[in-house]
Amino acid sequence: MSFDWISLFNQHRIEYVTSGPNISKGHIAIKCPWCAAADPSQHMSIALSGMGWRCFRNREHRGIQPTRLIQVLLNCSYEHARSLVYGESQFLPNDFLAKVNGSLRPQIFPAKKKELKLLPEFLSFKDLPSAKPFIHYLNKRGYKREVVLHLTSWYGLRYCTRGHFEHRIIFPVQFQNNLVSWIGRSIAPQALVRYKTLSVDPDPDSGLPPAIGPVSDYLLWYDKIREVSADTIVLCEGPFDALRVNVLGRKYGVVGTCFFTSRPSRFQIELLHEILPRYKRRFLLLDQDMTAGALRVASDLSALGVDVVHLPSRRKDPAELDVGEFIRTVVRRTVDS
Ligand SMILES: [Zn+2]
Repeated sequence: MSFDWISLFNQHRIEYVTSGPNISKGHIAIKCPWCAAADPSQHMSIALSGMGWRCFRNREHRGIQPTRLIQVLLNCSYEHARSLVYGESQFLPNDFLAKVNGSLRPQIFPAKKKELKLLPEFLSFKDLPSAKPFIHYLNKRGYKREVVLHLTSWYGLRYCTRGHFEHRIIFPVQFQNNLVSWIGRSIAPQALVRYKTLSVDPDPDSGLPPAIGPVSDYLLWYDKIREVSADTIVLCEGPFDALRVNVLGRKYGVVGTCFFTSRPSRFQIELLHEILPRYKRRFLLLDQDMTAGALRVASDLSALGVDVVHLPSRRKDPAELDVGEFIRTVVRRTVDS
């Protein structure tokens, strides 16, 4: 789903340009509403494909969901902006603007998406000799062989045997069915860097493609959690925590996602605004020690109706939860609350 920016701009007489030095194919640009008078021309670039918007003057002025930009451009409420993006609008029917403005629309090339593909050395979990050390690692972390052999089809996971992501389990990060980045967890016991992400900066030496966006702009398994039928969502810090929740929660209607870092970014909060209303119960899974950082995250999320649940005291890490603990911590909590 991509938002019809051109109709919005025509309707509200917001000046935009479709070509120029800063504008790549499939993008249009407007004066950045945050830079305002400080923006001498059109530095806010918007991807027509729905892949987000960003200001070339200030990296802070960017986002994925159209709502925040619309709010600032129209000086309207979040609810109004949201209704324009997601429909359910009492203000304008979904296709009204498109119809009215169709004839006024300048000729634009269809949006061409920047494409990212998984590397050929990222392999699907199958019963292959090269998968052995990875399957062994996952067995040790409590995943049975039958589960491991489904990790690619269920969660998109891969393993990598060579190159920059060698010895890593790959979690592809997708947004609206496009691959936008990935993060790889080392299976080496003493790895210096446990998690490695694909960088957004082009690095010709590495031969790696640049990521479409930083992982902290997205939520793991976003496409799945906005569609799956489940009534409980558990927010975690790392991919292995979220994997644990999904694997254990499958039969209980519980899904998990993660922030990749200890604190959600405001882009992730925006995505949560969109997704969380789908779920009756929303939990943030934390360990026993409420650090100052964890308290901040809990308060960031309490406005979204997210309750904190704590791991059993002897567990340091959600990724280590066993079934019984999971049921006591999340599922029972779901039933009781
Ligand atoms: Zn700006």
